[in-house]
Amino acid sequence: MLSIQQLHKSFGDLEVLNGIDLKVEQGKVVVVVGPSGSGKTTLLRCLNILETPTKGSVSIEGQTLDFDQKVSKKDIRTLRRKTGMVFQTYNLFPHKTALENVIEGPITVQKVDKSEAKEKGIHLLEKVGLGDKVDYYPFQLSGGQQQRVGIARALAMDPEVMLFDEPTSALDPELVGEVLRVMKELAQEGMTMVVVTHEMGFAKDVADEVIFMDNGSIVERGKPGHIFSNPKNERTRKFLNLIN
Ligand code: ATP
Repeated sequence: MLSIQQLHKSFGDLEVLNGIDLKVEQGKVVVVVGPSGSGKTTLLRCLNILETPTKGSVSIEGQTLDFDQKVSKKDIRTLRRKTGMVFQTYNLFPHKTALENVIEGPITVQKVDKSEAKEKGIHLLEKVGLGDKVDYYPFQLSGGQQQRVGIARALAMDPEVMLFDEPTSALDPELVGEVLRVMKELAQEGMTMVVVTHEMGFAKDVADEVIFMDNGSIVERGKPGHIFSNPKNERTRKFLNLIN
């Protein structure tokens, strides 16, 4: 399970997260939506401490980091390894093949034997539909394919939780579906996921809970059916009207 309590994050004087509470049970999918600048990416980056929260705590599978106190780098590394992150821009190593990108983490961080890492890497690339592209370099792959390599790379580290930061927003519209399909399959297999996205169809189909953020706070949360068909909050209503 992932949970955060009273999480705050400021950049200088700018308070970007104003005390967020969130629980994601194992195997559940939470989709985070909200207007630009509301703090969605910052929230996600605080979950694996790519941004250091100013106050509050983050717990993943029995490990809690309390940012009201000093937190060691070692504890941050341990927590971060429980998460896999998929970025908007795929961040693949350009001079490495798809397979080399996927096995880099297991070999250098987990010290997994190279042949074992390769076998698993090929399996993961097959899982995301790229079994025939293992030796391709990023420049030889479409955006959708690169993003699927990004997902396989994150999965290679055996994360407890997968974090997706607008994984399809850099893609041409015709490539969005193939990435969402892989994400949906992962969700159906029971992966715990937190997904920031503007893809409302995905949220309706896959989310167990939708969280609407505005101005650094969660202003509404609930089942997708409830949020999309009967939003209680005026700001949620306005946002949904704008994007629909
Ligand atoms: P979008 O949908 O446009 O990606 P968002 O909801 O993900 O927006 P964030 O990227 O989390 O929003 O940004 C929230 C606020 O924090 C913005 O005002 C942004 O300018 C600010 N911010 C984010 N990162 C930094 C940083 N490293 N330094 C200073 N300010 C930042």
